[in-house]
Amino acid sequence: MTRRKTKAIKVGKIGIGGEYPVSIQSMLNTKNGDVKAAIEQTVALKEAGCDIVRLAVTDEGSLEVIKALKKEIDIPLVADIQFDYKMAIASIEAGIDKVRLNPGNIGNERRVREVIAAAKERNIPIRVGVNTGSVSLDIAKEYGRYSAEGLVLEATRHIEILERNNFNDIAISLKASDVSTMIKAYRLMAEKCDYPLHLGVTEAGPAYTGTIKSAIGIGALLADGIGDTIRVSLTDKPVEEIRAAKEILKALDLREGGPKLISCPTCSRCSVDLISIAKEVEKLLSTLNKAVTVAVMGCVVNGPGEASNADIGITGANGEGLIFKDGKVIKRVKEENIVDELFNEIDKLF
Ligand code: SF4
Repeated sequence: MTRRKTKAIKVGKIGIGGEYPVSIQSMLNTKNGDVKAAIEQTVALKEAGCDIVRLAVTDEGSLEVIKALKKEIDIPLVADIQFDYKMAIASIEAGIDKVRLNPGNIGNERRVREVIAAAKERNIPIRVGVNTGSVSLDIAKEYGRYSAEGLVLEATRHIEILERNNFNDIAISLKASDVSTMIKAYRLMAEKCDYPLHLGVTEAGPAYTGTIKSAIGIGALLADGIGDTIRVSLTDKPVEEIRAAKEILKALDLREGGPKLISCPTCSRCSVDLISIAKEVEKLLSTLNKAVTVAVMGCVVNGPGEASNADIGITGANGEGLIFKDGKVIKRVKEENIVDELFNEIDKLF
């Protein structure tokens, strides 16, 4: 796919837009000021493959968290600011790498200029982050609160404030819980400007529904070449957001490395407990940081053939399992040993 051409911004060591790969973000959900929990969660996110971590900054405790994270962990941090411009400036002084803030919400433009001056001094970009809940009353009245046009107009107003104060180090998000609205809003914005876009479906739901909605919304846009960084919002542990985001990027060949799993849906030809086997393989692969495509198939009739693009795989065969590599059977094993034997063979690949 051809990706939309955008300006590039830098969030610490991670680039967003331009020629940079699509990055993955998540957000801490630890209690304000709980430094230990914030460090633990950030380490877990980084190990899971997160590129950028955001945290809500509301008080002195949040600033302590920023300082501790900057000291302990090498990962770019974003401060999420609602209305308090002083917190934006304090976050920048504490070492934050990006600020998410809507300039129209922090009072007069003198305050905006103060934030801009602090951001410029340290090369900190600002994300204008609009969602359907934050659309201004007059826009909601004209376009409806949940319209794509309203989201774009709201974001445009905030962007214009930054631009007329000579600030262009900008990323944009336009999040809606409704997937169609979100897709339309990002498409409209992509035609209007060349700032990098941060994609997300807001309030997407718990892991199952949230992952599906995010995969559709984020995936549709990425498939069109739109989108430079993504956050899958789930009502779950933040590391689950990273797992989902990585699968979205891998499905579109936008993220190299890491394992890929192919598994068949099973049918009457299947003679092993393939559903349990596939779940176990999926769980084990989630901790494997190797670029390998693994197939888990139900029968020899179609299994190896259908999964011929896999590096290695297993297929059920009359209550036993066959391990195949590059489409050719290399071993017959007992059903209860299928997973162990498969991972022994995967280990030999590296
Ligand atoms: S691989 Fe075999 S068991 Fe699986 S769906 Fe295809 S035919 Fe059925």
